[in-house]
Amino acid sequence: MYLAVLLPSLLALFALYKNKMTLPGLLAAWLMGIVITFCGGLYPFFALATTFILTIISDHLKKKDKDEKRTIYQMFSNVLTCTLCSVLYYIKQNDMFLVMFYSVIGGSLADTLASSIGSLAKGKNIDPLTFRKMKKGESGAISSLGLSASVVGGIIIGGIHYLGGGWAYEYLIIIIMSAFGSYIDSVMGAYLQGKFKCSKCRKIVEEQNHCNHKTKLIKGFAFMDNNTVNLLSNIVVFITSYIVMILR
Ligand SMILES: [Zn+2]
Repeated sequence: MYLAVLLPSLLALFALYKNKMTLPGLLAAWLMGIVITFCGGLYPFFALATTFILTIISDHLKKKDKDEKRTIYQMFSNVLTCTLCSVLYYIKQNDMFLVMFYSVIGGSLADTLASSIGSLAKGKNIDPLTFRKMKKGESGAISSLGLSASVVGGIIIGGIHYLGGGWAYEYLIIIIMSAFGSYIDSVMGAYLQGKFKCSKCRKIVEEQNHCNHKTKLIKGFAFMDNNTVNLLSNIVVFITSYIVMILR
């Protein structure tokens, strides 16, 4: 029990030291980390910690305009669904919810790796549904390097479950579900996420305000930002992996 509080606290202290989160975001992540470790055990904590550390490393790879801190909305949209899986596992004591936990968090890591490593791709970026060429860095664009990175994300997270005593077929399900989650994230990023045009600098942006001006919606839905897309793709993986585990 004390480990369930101690380990997420150490991770939260590390996050505080790295200065990557707002205070409410940090508190939310800390609480969800305690719930996950208490309900799921050590291996789910390792999966959470691995995802967190690789996300920080990915931030360094990604060339961003400004180093943004993660907010409480980002923490909830990325961690709430897998927290729910760990609670269901605790209540039902059924391993299928553990596989769902790793599938959902694997999808998050796969998406993080796909977008950061994919942004380094020299080759062409394509639309996830029509396979037409897309601009580099545009939301939803996929590349072969990004796709490979998403599979690596699944291999890492599935490997943690395997080390924790999971079956080989569960390992395979987690790899496929993680890559699928990253792909769904790309499709929703390309087709549903709001894209706006700035009337000042004429750039296509994802913000409703740019250059101190309100931007104009040109694609997708205004309310669909990256957080909503992440939450929805987590929910899609939650449902899909549930169905797969029932039909297996
Ligand atoms: Zn602008």
